[in-house]
Amino acid sequence: MKSWREECAVFGIWNDPEAGRMTYLGLYAQQHRGQESAGIVSLNAETHISHKGVGLVGDVFQEEHLLKLKGSAAIGHVRYSTTGLNYLSNVQPLTAQLHKGPVAIAHNGNIVNAHIVRDHLIQQGAIFQGTNDTESLLHLLARHSDDNIIKGLKKSVLDFEGAYSFVIMTQDRLIAMRDPKGFRPLVLGSRKLDNGEISYVVASETCAFDLIGATYEREIEPGEIFWVDKNGTHSEKFSSEKKKSQCVFEHVYFSRPDSLVFGQSVYEARKNMGATLFHENPVEADIVIPVPDSGVPAAIGFSNASKIPFEFGIIRNHYIGRTFIQPSQSIRSFGVKIKLNPQKSILEGKRVVVIDDSLVRGTTSKKIISLVRQAGAKEVHFYVASPPTKGPCYYGVDTPKRQQLIAAEKDVEEIRDFIGADSLVYVSVEGLMKAVHGSEDTHCAACFNGKYPTEIF
Ligand code: AMP
Repeated sequence: MKSWREECAVFGIWNDPEAGRMTYLGLYAQQHRGQESAGIVSLNAETHISHKGVGLVGDVFQEEHLLKLKGSAAIGHVRYSTTGLNYLSNVQPLTAQLHKGPVAIAHNGNIVNAHIVRDHLIQQGAIFQGTNDTESLLHLLARHSDDNIIKGLKKSVLDFEGAYSFVIMTQDRLIAMRDPKGFRPLVLGSRKLDNGEISYVVASETCAFDLIGATYEREIEPGEIFWVDKNGTHSEKFSSEKKKSQCVFEHVYFSRPDSLVFGQSVYEARKNMGATLFHENPVEADIVIPVPDSGVPAAIGFSNASKIPFEFGIIRNHYIGRTFIQPSQSIRSFGVKIKLNPQKSILEGKRVVVIDDSLVRGTTSKKIISLVRQAGAKEVHFYVASPPTKGPCYYGVDTPKRQQLIAAEKDVEEIRDFIGADSLVYVSVEGLMKAVHGSEDTHCAACFNGKYPTEIF
């Protein structure tokens, strides 16, 4: 598996006099999906204007750049890469001048056979600038240049297996396209302008619409290609695939709780997971506390279901930048405390249920449990609002390699012993599916159940 793993967000807007600025805000709202790089391409009188950089949205874009990003349509991208190869040539949106004009592409997801498509293209003489999956699409599109872009795109993606939510802009249209299994989210919204005209917006998550005052219309369906141009909106299905593989981890951890993802409120899904956690494994305890922020909605759901009082037993410092200098080895234990501070006045002498969204390597939970005990907790029960993470994701979530996943190597009792909890409990796969109103026909839970919905190349 050579492919590049990415967590990303995409955004696109059509027919808005402030398209560049709106895209900036749309990326800002989706910063949690990628912190390594950001980029915007705007469309001004049939030409593309681009600004991209490495860093957070607020660092990459200054007023001078937004002034430059003129035009009434734009697309944008934020990206988190795990390989360390954060070259500017990989920063999206990617742009190219094709036979019929400029094309800009923003991609969320991971195409599992990308390296095969890429090797094939290179053998045929293609020259690649970067090391990401998305560039292959530009090369494939260039080969279908006699077709219009919609036809070209439909032909190009026939070569792809895996996850792609694309937002694409040419000189005369904005296109949104979601892979046939619908791994990653992609939503459509609209906004009424002061002059009565409608502006169309696409994004990975609806939280981007909330910020710019757009109304959520619907999801871009798996296997749908949607576009908007001067004649209005258009939509076609390019696949007859019936089974969806929407990523359950979007609901567990990745998406913002104030987003609608796959048509469901993430906040509600997480509360359901917390309630399920209690119903599957009732416990007696004095308080339930979340690991902030990721465990908060699940802990509320657990508290409501169990009637065990909810407390903020751990307070999170929100001002830790990525520039935080790691303490030297001798004072390393300060590490987690800098971010998470357990409150003695709440925890002392109590039987505590600690709720987190997921347990991946087990290193964070081990430290948290030790801090909660140091603060005087009598019992610490660690409750995880998802099943054991047993396998890596090949579809765009950055999970560590299998060897680093504690549940791939150890059983629940061994993990409990490693993290130092009095008890350790996970939600069942069935319970998780119920919480997201899903099934194996609608959601991918491969990281939890090992059932990968595509071949892994
Ligand atoms: P650990 O068990 O030490 O690997 O930490 C698990 C915690 O990391 C979880 O509680 C999540 O809040 C967070 N987490 C889970 N998945 C990811 C991911 N793909 N990227 C970043 N953080 C994650």
